[in-house]
Amino acid sequence: HVKNNGGKGERLFTAEMEAQIDARHALEADLRTAIERDEFDLHYQPLYDLSQQRVCGFEALLRWNHPTRGRVPPMEFIPLAEEVGLVVDIGRWVLRRACHDALHWPDNIKVAVNVSAIQFTDSDLPGDVAAALSAARLPANRLEVEITESVLMENLDEALPVLHALKQSGIRIAMDDFGTGYSSLSYLRRFPFDKIKIDKSFVNGIVEDREAFAIMRAIILLGDALGMRVTVEGVETAEQLALLQREACDEIQGYYISPPQPAADAPYLLALPQREHISAG
Ligand code: C2E
Ligand code: MG
Ligand code: MG
Ligand code: MG
Repeated sequence: HVKNNGGKGERLFTAEMEAQIDARHALEADLRTAIERDEFDLHYQPLYDLSQQRVCGFEALLRWNHPTRGRVPPMEFIPLAEEVGLVVDIGRWVLRRACHDALHWPDNIKVAVNVSAIQFTDSDLPGDVAAALSAARLPANRLEVEITESVLMENLDEALPVLHALKQSGIRIAMDDFGTGYSSLSYLRRFPFDKIKIDKSFVNGIVEDREAFAIMRAIILLGDALGMRVTVEGVETAEQLALLQREACDEIQGYYISPPQPAADAPYLLALPQREHISAG
């Protein structure tokens, strides 16, 4: 029940809501033509193996170059694309482009692709993955699919057979943003993920704060004990890198290694010098 404080407030409220709805419709209309107008692009962020001290893969991150708004961040258009069902077509485009780009990299460099909940429930994801791999002639073991916890939370019973079919096809499956959902731990028993990616919010303070460090350490040990590869996202300093290396974290990702870059920069990113492992005391 909205209070009517004199009428004026309510009219303003309504006008503001209408403007928001109009803006959303405009964005949606633009999103519908973005693929055909070639406005999407993939940037790649290195995944850095801490024991081998080298880049071992790239995560594909979608970029939308809007003709008038400029670059629209994924967090602004992916939720919209999910709501209106466009994320299925966009997801197919991402899979195809990522597999195609990965073919230009050495055999031991993987490509990781984010998939949305809607792709699990409203499309044939294993079929789309197989089609993208065969169109690029990329071996399945070069591809990793990243799924956020919320995907599973929404419909685990429907998602599980799809997860198993994907795994059967030889690709790897990573749980993304681990720790941000409220029942992360139970999922780890329901499906054998190849990897967990610890959310970047857990990196904050690990160098300075005992509690933050203790939580990070416990998650790494848990992933390790379950035989999963452990990646930490959002590593921004040499001190964080050094600490994670001592804690037997397998892999890191973050601005300290490199922010996401255009595909054309992959050869340069693969030749990155080893990052300095400053002793954190
Ligand atoms: P994500 O999959 O967890 O990707 C990591 C995000 O963290 C990226 O944001 C990346 O740029 C950012 N990041 C990496 N290193 C650092 C760091 O050191 N510090 C900080 N503060 N941030 C860092 P981005 O590219 O804006 O993507 C945001 C999210 O959008 C992704 O989170 C993913 O959930 C979604 N997304 C991106 N591309 C796709 C896609 O092709 N399909 C789907 N369904 N979702 C996508
Ligand atoms: Mg991801
Ligand atoms: Mg993440
Ligand atoms: Mg390990």
